[in-house]
Amino acid sequence: VKAVRDVSFHVNKGEIVAIVGESGSGKSVTVQTIMGLIPKPPAIINSGSVFLEDVDLMTLSKKQMKKVNGSKMSMVFQDPMTSLNPTMKIGNQIAEVLTVHKNMSKSEAKEKAIEMIRLVGIPNPEERYDQYPHEFSGGMRQRAMISIALACNPDLLIADEPTTALDVTIQAQVLELMKDLKTKINTAIILITHDLGVVAETAERVIVMYAGMVVETSSVDEIFTNPKHPYTWGLLESIPDTTTTSEKQRLIPIEGTPPDLFSPPKGCPFAPRCKYAMEICVGQMPPEFEIKEGHTARCWLNDSRSPAPEDVYQERGERV
Ligand code: SF4
Repeated sequence: VKAVRDVSFHVNKGEIVAIVGESGSGKSVTVQTIMGLIPKPPAIINSGSVFLEDVDLMTLSKKQMKKVNGSKMSMVFQDPMTSLNPTMKIGNQIAEVLTVHKNMSKSEAKEKAIEMIRLVGIPNPEERYDQYPHEFSGGMRQRAMISIALACNPDLLIADEPTTALDVTIQAQVLELMKDLKTKINTAIILITHDLGVVAETAERVIVMYAGMVVETSSVDEIFTNPKHPYTWGLLESIPDTTTTSEKQRLIPIEGTPPDLFSPPKGCPFAPRCKYAMEICVGQMPPEFEIKEGHTARCWLNDSRSPAPEDVYQERGERV
């Protein structure tokens, strides 16, 4: 399976970049590769580099990567219950990161761990230090995970759908916390999500992935006001309208399914689902068109020789 192809992006210090796309679009494989968590075999990385400042992580040994993970970059997973050790007190799990990566003594690590528990907004940190994960609520466990991830002040924090398992109130609190920490610690954050509401609330820039490729990248404002890829249009259209009171509101799905990545199509991977598809789309992979500085879209409609989307749509109206 060619899970990820030609993916290239950067994240600045103190910036939140969101990666969006449906399941199987390559979001998680991308970040697991950055973290060196992708098991090899079965995975094969044919080429490419991942620079954290001026170090190419792809050239590091497993041992060197272990040092980087946890100290210079760390990850928050979707489900804290499967990531936290159920047999270990929360405080010890945070302190362990500090003794391993920062060579702190046990008492120093405990003090810092309590400070981290306080920083992520968990009340009574001294008491909470001695509790087990099952004594925490879902939201509190996710906060505990974030405090472990941030214990060593990493340069890069990767959050893989960190709020999917949480209800909306707790989700809002965790996102607020991440924004707050970004400002306080100046950490660069990659946020993986399929929820454009979360993107609008949290991120500064967006990367839209489809079939293992980046199909559009831009600032958050631009993606909502001037999107340039039919897949992004589909994602935006599928957001439920919260302003309507009609009980009969129908969600607009993106019809069809993603291509089989065992043999990715030669042309645009979105072509079989795209109501604007033209002849060239099937035969040739669209290049990355620069719409303006910081905004690119991989779609032939952005070629100056292309007809306007409405004209293509009208011609192919019967397919829609
Ligand atoms: Fe649709 Fe063609 Fe653009 Fe692909 S390149 S998204 S098929 S219009």
